[in-house]
Amino acid sequence: MEFSEIARTFLAPIRALSVSESAPKKQIGPSIIRVALDLPLRRLFDYLPPADEPVSNADLGYRVRVPFGRQRKIGIIVGLSSASDRPAEQLKAVEAVLREVPPLPADWFRLAEFCANYYHEPLGQVMLATLPATLRAPLPPPVRSLRQRAASLPTATQALPSLTTDQRAALTTIDDHGHGFRAYLLHGVTGSGKTEVYLRLIERALAGNRQSLLLVPEINLTPQLEARVAARFPGARLVSLHSELGDAARNRHWRAAHGGEARIVLGTRLAVFTPLPELGLIVVDEEHDPSFKQQDGVRYSARDLAVVRARERDVPIVLGSATPSLETWANATGWVGRDRYHLLTLGKRAIEGADLPTVKRIDLRTDPALDGLSSALLDAVDDRLNRGEQSLLFLNRRGYAPVLACAACGWVSHCPSCAANLVLHLADRCLRCHHCGHQTAVPRACPTCGNQDLGAFGRGTQRLEATLAERFPRARILRVDRDAAGTRRQWQALVAKIDGGEADILVGTQMLAKGHHFPKLTLVGAIAPDAALFAADWRAPERLFAQLMQVAGRAGRAERPGEMLLQTRFPDHPLYVSLARHDYVGFAAEQLAERRRTGFPPFTFQAMLRAEADTMADALGFLGAARRAASAEPPPQVTLYDPVPMRLSRRARLERGQLLVESPSRRALQNFLAGWMVYLETCKPPAQLRWHLEIDPLEC
Ligand code: ADP
Ligand code: ZN
Ligand code: ZN
Repeated sequence: MEFSEIARTFLAPIRALSVSESAPKKQIGPSIIRVALDLPLRRLFDYLPPADEPVSNADLGYRVRVPFGRQRKIGIIVGLSSASDRPAEQLKAVEAVLREVPPLPADWFRLAEFCANYYHEPLGQVMLATLPATLRAPLPPPVRSLRQRAASLPTATQALPSLTTDQRAALTTIDDHGHGFRAYLLHGVTGSGKTEVYLRLIERALAGNRQSLLLVPEINLTPQLEARVAARFPGARLVSLHSELGDAARNRHWRAAHGGEARIVLGTRLAVFTPLPELGLIVVDEEHDPSFKQQDGVRYSARDLAVVRARERDVPIVLGSATPSLETWANATGWVGRDRYHLLTLGKRAIEGADLPTVKRIDLRTDPALDGLSSALLDAVDDRLNRGEQSLLFLNRRGYAPVLACAACGWVSHCPSCAANLVLHLADRCLRCHHCGHQTAVPRACPTCGNQDLGAFGRGTQRLEATLAERFPRARILRVDRDAAGTRRQWQALVAKIDGGEADILVGTQMLAKGHHFPKLTLVGAIAPDAALFAADWRAPERLFAQLMQVAGRAGRAERPGEMLLQTRFPDHPLYVSLARHDYVGFAAEQLAERRRTGFPPFTFQAMLRAEADTMADALGFLGAARRAASAEPPPQVTLYDPVPMRLSRRARLERGQLLVESPSRRALQNFLAGWMVYLETCKPPAQLRWHLEIDPLEC
């Protein structure tokens, strides 16, 4: 079943947002207020109305300040009732109904309720987590000056590019269908003009007096998009919503969206919950990106919720990508039932003459890499230097080397808290764990045998940068990874340097693969992609293909032709063959056939129960008991696998285990999980054990 269909079946039984129908006729007004609070409990909390202040239906969706134990909490009114399960004398009164922000609308409630049900999270936690911090704080925020951004004046109107045939066809299809719900997959190769299609759709929404919601995986990486949208629609208020905004700005932007003043909202995953009274369009750019999945707290997929929301609000949604996720592709091409998403294809690059880069495989068996670089790649970089063009070397591993070790005694730099090695970072001379953040100075000598000759094994971006500096002493080399560009500001500074022609060679991780446009870049080198070919994670090929296709797409986007050189020991691997042909469609077909044969998503549905504890025995013991409880009455169509340690079996001093639950029917899986969660919450695991459930897990 498709996500938006699930939405229909799930939304039907929800009636939290309603006045209880059993109210006796004599009663003048409801006397109980049902409040959602940010607590890990699957229930609402009953309060009496504030003294002398009657409440009515019109108060649904307002925030309230309530006493809770010895604290004050902010909650949301989700229902009114004439009766409570608790004796009236135990009920406390709401302290204040906070009416300075308009009430949260009904469709926002339905989205939050869907999210709570589908991901099996308490409703109050879902609801409160989506609000800006200022609106969740029980004390009024300190008075800040709320400087509004000056309304921008219409500038000279831009000359719009005339649409390509593919763009026009895509827009016509969307126009012909009208304003109602339909999910589109806009599959367009890098540089094919997907963004231009989004802009035209936003233009239509603006003309129809509707708001647009544009979701992007990582706003840090997309200030260019923000600028492009703002430049196109200077008269329309655009706000962004992402994690780097301060509390005051986030509050201001959220309220502008909720109040309807903001006509375009550009945001990361949490923005999918923004209340938008006049929503007319949702766009999810780079829909395949794993960043749309929240990895802690409420583990939701913003892309999937966006589809649910579009159906709920009866508006069109466009999912765009050059390398769609295989789930989305299956939905658009008939692999799972009838075509649920409508496929729109942009087959060529939009700019005349900007062809896709040629992909050449460098066979490392005949052209061995020295310090990670084959002679073919070195020559190609040299060429670009001579021509004044840029090169990008892609290595998806930051740091200098993945491990420091002693050849004399066998010591390696293990993280004391994780089942992982400490990564050597020479830029700030430390060993650092990429999982828990543990950090220590690089030892001068081996901590066990005193040997002073410690060796760095393997290669990360810092080491590649050092090698290139030696090999090309006059080249200006710029490293772009999370260490160098951790914040939006650092990222923008690096981009300005690249755009300003202040860099000849870029060394970067997948950060550089995403939706960026560097006109002088004509060469991309993939340094060590092979490791991901044989990774244990069954999603690894999908991710590798997407990354390589995206990073290749950075080359030759303007008038100069681009080239990708891929260093490999497996030049004939089908994944690379498809890549060299720019054949996403062939790759996807081959992968989906394989998944259907072996019974993996999207042909089956999964949930993962995870537990963390001081000992692996405790973690696996809890999971084992959970499994036995379920198997006592075997749930129809649902398979529960044996509990196993997670691949990263220990992190931040906790041992981690997981249990996979699977079903060919999403409904059967969800029905089972609902009951199982209620049971699990009554269990008393060891005090230090924590567990959570993840639906549609991306990591296995
Ligand atoms: P994508 O989002 O698919 O990567 P963009 O929308 O960013 O592609 O377009 C890539 C480049 O092509 C941009 O420089 C854009 O201005 C240009 N472009 C897009 N559509 C057209 C068009 N119809 N005619 C000419 N140039 C276009
Ligand atoms: Zn040693
Ligand atoms: Zn660690």
